[in-house]
Amino acid sequence: MLPGVTTAFSDDIAIDLGTANTLVSVVGRGIIIDEPSVVAVRARNGTREVLAVGQKAKMMLGRTPESIETIRPLRDGVIADFIATEEMLRQFIKRAKSMLGFRRPRILICVPAGATPVERRAVYETAVSAGARRVYLIEEPVAASLGAGLPIDEPSGSMVVDIGGGTTDIAVLSLGGVVQARSLRCAGNAMDEAIIRYVRRRHQLLIGEANAERIKIEAGSAVAQPNGRDTEIHIRGRDLRQGRPKSIVLGPHDIAEALEVPIEEIAEFTQRALEDLPPEVSTDICERGINLTGGGALLDKLDTELERRVGVRFLVPESPMQCVVKGTMIVMEQFAEREHLLIKP
Ligand code: ADP
Ligand code: MG
Repeated sequence: MLPGVTTAFSDDIAIDLGTANTLVSVVGRGIIIDEPSVVAVRARNGTREVLAVGQKAKMMLGRTPESIETIRPLRDGVIADFIATEEMLRQFIKRAKSMLGFRRPRILICVPAGATPVERRAVYETAVSAGARRVYLIEEPVAASLGAGLPIDEPSGSMVVDIGGGTTDIAVLSLGGVVQARSLRCAGNAMDEAIIRYVRRRHQLLIGEANAERIKIEAGSAVAQPNGRDTEIHIRGRDLRQGRPKSIVLGPHDIAEALEVPIEEIAEFTQRALEDLPPEVSTDICERGINLTGGGALLDKLDTELERRVGVRFLVPESPMQCVVKGTMIVMEQFAEREHLLIKP
């Protein structure tokens, strides 16, 4: 956009309030914030003071003195900690607003598909009290479909499976409308927990969540095949029996074995979603393939493994972690044509 030129909606903000990462985009500027959904607070005399949010707060994770706590306010569901979520949103919105004019922004914000009315209301109220003039809500996988560039206006079904930190969300769109949207509480965090369980069972080694996530990202694979990834990873932890520090080596085949349960759960969820569709729509999807978005889509060979289990081709678009916020921005930009995709707070 040219400097000094404003569009009618230049005070619009799109937010992907994810359980793992929050992305903020401003009309005409693109993505301006992409940071972990983490808040660091200091508890003193029964009150909590927010010290940092996002990247800064994540750097404090596991390294804080006792009085400081790092919270993932959305972790397992929609909003687990209202006050921390609000503070995080307020700070991100403040940063976005410093790039806009003086007007309070209109905000379009995502919620997982299948969020309850209470949860939706909570997200809505939080954005209002964080300083929005108007707040609109949309379901994450619906936004992901637009952000992945799917031809959602055609008379043919498109399906997105978005694997985030806390939830896996599915949406099916056709003729510009939502045919189906649903959510499962099994995604990236469940994969990390599965790695923790595997390492404990197989090697009697206790590791933390951050370590498990690092193992998944650096050496993880959904498929235990010889021509796959061959990265090995050295892990240190505490031996459960002797209590002494111990180190082990894990390869992609170990991690594929560890991840089998959550991957099967996601595959079954996708299968059920397909079965519940009108036959014409599921036929379209079987021909076209299913689009995989969210951070989980980056797991090595996950598309191959889901394809093997579900029997339909899986496709990963470019920058799968940005599809939701991009789609949310598209809805803002094409507000009049896309307004029917919004959901009620
Ligand atoms: P949310 O929308 O819930 O905030 P994201 O779409 O940002 O979630 O995805 C975060 C999840 O993706 C985390 O569980 C993270 O561990 C996982 N993730 C990120 N990169 C990778 C990778 N390369 N391989 C596997 N998982 C990944
Ligand atoms: Mg997400």
